[in-house]
Amino acid sequence: MTGSDAARRLARAKMLGERFVLRLPVEERAVTMDEPFDLNDSSKPAEFDEAAWTTVRDEALGCTKCDLCRTRTQVVWGSGTPRTGIMVVGEAPGYHEDQQGEAFVGRAGQLLTKILAAIGFGRDEVFITNVLKCRPPDNADPLPHQVESCEPYLKRQIAIIDPAVILTLGRHAARTLLGVDSTMGAMRGRVFRYEEVPLVATYHPAALLRNPKLKRPTWEDVQLAREIYDEEMERRGKKIYPNVDFFSASVYTTLGIAMDLFTPIFAMSRVTGWTAHLFEQYANNRLIRPKAEYTGPRGLKVEPLENR
Ligand code: SF4
Repeated sequence: MTGSDAARRLARAKMLGERFVLRLPVEERAVTMDEPFDLNDSSKPAEFDEAAWTTVRDEALGCTKCDLCRTRTQVVWGSGTPRTGIMVVGEAPGYHEDQQGEAFVGRAGQLLTKILAAIGFGRDEVFITNVLKCRPPDNADPLPHQVESCEPYLKRQIAIIDPAVILTLGRHAARTLLGVDSTMGAMRGRVFRYEEVPLVATYHPAALLRNPKLKRPTWEDVQLAREIYDEEMERRGKKIYPNVDFFSASVYTTLGIAMDLFTPIFAMSRVTGWTAHLFEQYANNRLIRPKAEYTGPRGLKVEPLENR
């Protein structure tokens, strides 16, 4: 086990509330927020810890650590799968979430589903949660003592999931996690770190419903998150597209080639499709690539929190 592994496991154990860890004879190295994000670090994340996840979730579902436990209908732990490389974090549950116990439902949730689909994720392939797990009455802004009480749950979710990237939705979620008092415009299009994980902030889907002009910057931000996800998952040696069924893909490809051989019109349509795809990629790169600090493979520039 490398020093990096040890530091990572120590940080993770602390987040999970462990008081004692077995000390191994390894070089100890503190993990700090201003430590460069090392893309060449080949250490593999630990496997998903089902028991720890269940323990923390059960603890949260019965939580009474702050005043919101008296007004909530139910705790909204999160939606989707914890076996993922991407976490989406909003501010707090709203009325519908509080009623249904699911994160991001209603019109904003439907729009979030479309946004995720646009970068290749189904809702069931990501984990969606909030900084606060209980709804503040009248959707009020989270109060500092509520965040202080609830944030440990989020930190423990992050420690267990070990995501490649975190995407925050809305100004309050980003400001809370980054501890800054900035505008959304100043925070978006950049890469920060939270609990050592690259973090991209973008607008809340509800804001997009009110102001469609925000769709374009949001599209840029989620593309940036997707790029970081791809890079990090590749570095970890994991499959980027977990749902690709290679058997079906092989069958379809074989059938496609057979049809091309016997029916020239199919071959022509395939070439046309490829050409359209290439044009689309070109347009994406020319028009949509965000003007962010992210500079592409091996050039990821992660902004330390104190440089904001
Ligand atoms: S908001 Fe968080 S800390 Fe407060 S009662 Fe709900 S789960 Fe507990």
